[in-house]
Amino acid sequence: MTALRDYYEVLGVARDADQKSIKNAFRKLALKYHPDRNKAPEAEEKFKEIAAAYAVLSDPKKRQEYDTAGFAGVAGYSYEDLFSGINFEDIFGDLGKNFGFGFDFGSGDGLFNSFYKHGQRGPAKGEDIQLRLQVPLERIYHGGKEKVRFSRPLICSKCKGSGLKAGTTARACSECGGSGKKVISRQQQQEKGSISFQQITICPACHGRGTFIDHPCKQCHGSGQLEKEESVTVKIPVGIEEGMALRIPAHGFPSPDANGPPGDLYIYVYSADPRFERRGNDLWRTETIEVADAVLGMQLQIAGLDGDIKVKIPPCTQPDTVLRLKDKGLPDYANGMRGDLNIRILVHLPEQLSPEEKKLFEKLHELEESHGKS
Ligand SMILES: [Zn+2]
Ligand SMILES: [Zn+2]
Repeated sequence: MTALRDYYEVLGVARDADQKSIKNAFRKLALKYHPDRNKAPEAEEKFKEIAAAYAVLSDPKKRQEYDTAGFAGVAGYSYEDLFSGINFEDIFGDLGKNFGFGFDFGSGDGLFNSFYKHGQRGPAKGEDIQLRLQVPLERIYHGGKEKVRFSRPLICSKCKGSGLKAGTTARACSECGGSGKKVISRQQQQEKGSISFQQITICPACHGRGTFIDHPCKQCHGSGQLEKEESVTVKIPVGIEEGMALRIPAHGFPSPDANGPPGDLYIYVYSADPRFERRGNDLWRTETIEVADAVLGMQLQIAGLDGDIKVKIPPCTQPDTVLRLKDKGLPDYANGMRGDLNIRILVHLPEQLSPEEKKLFEKLHELEESHGKS
């Protein structure tokens, strides 16, 4: 895979194509490029591209997300989500039974997974951009969309990356003759005679560029690139794990080669919430209560992720007790099963006593003395 192509373009269908034409287009292309039937070296890559396009466009929900936000719209889907929906037998009849063989639609190093790995052939790919995105826990609980702003240098449209004003050429550096490198020779004295070294360094006059631009492009001031502010809207999958990355193809740095594909954008998702600490799918919170409440019991009200949660603190709750509320945590990314909400109870002792409180504590003390502590 070199560059990422629009899914409609891949299947050769119109943007408003109906499901029947999408299926037909996929069937025709898949039969042509299936690696079992086509031994051309590029057939496998081609087939994977076709399958990815079909996986998205054949699913009304994913198609709509792709239509609104492009590759970013479907970045939140796992490979399994994407490809498990393709029914090969339904599309290809008996032939489809064979098509399924050898493909791992889920985890591991299956055909479809390698589709998403960087291309090894052709011009160099640009660098990837990695961003950190903090989202509230509600977003992880419900899933949803987040807008991410970032900036990246893009090839200047005016000079096409040369940095030159139209109609002008660069001047070769006279120090290095345009190579950008300088060879320095030096002698080092040794016990038995001397050794001569040749050291290649970056030309200090042109800083390795080899050329000077006397007439820079007005738009990019000669750098050939322009920093551009962009934003993408990404879909946060329900229960996304801490630090998991969403990959948005072709939104990274431009390729160092003129016709190379850009890198990808990786958005690492983290949660940020003042109320709860996240540990996997479980949530933790510390509540401090007064002595009398710990002794007599009470009811707490906590703002949960889907509304208020009432927590009953039983009488005689000991300090450091952890109350576990089953299934009040976050849903699991893989299976949707909810984690727990754990509430650690701390007990606050009075720092000062009013005369009345003092009397009552003294009374309590007397009582404990007379009953004998158990
Ligand atoms: Zn030079
Ligand atoms: Zn320019």
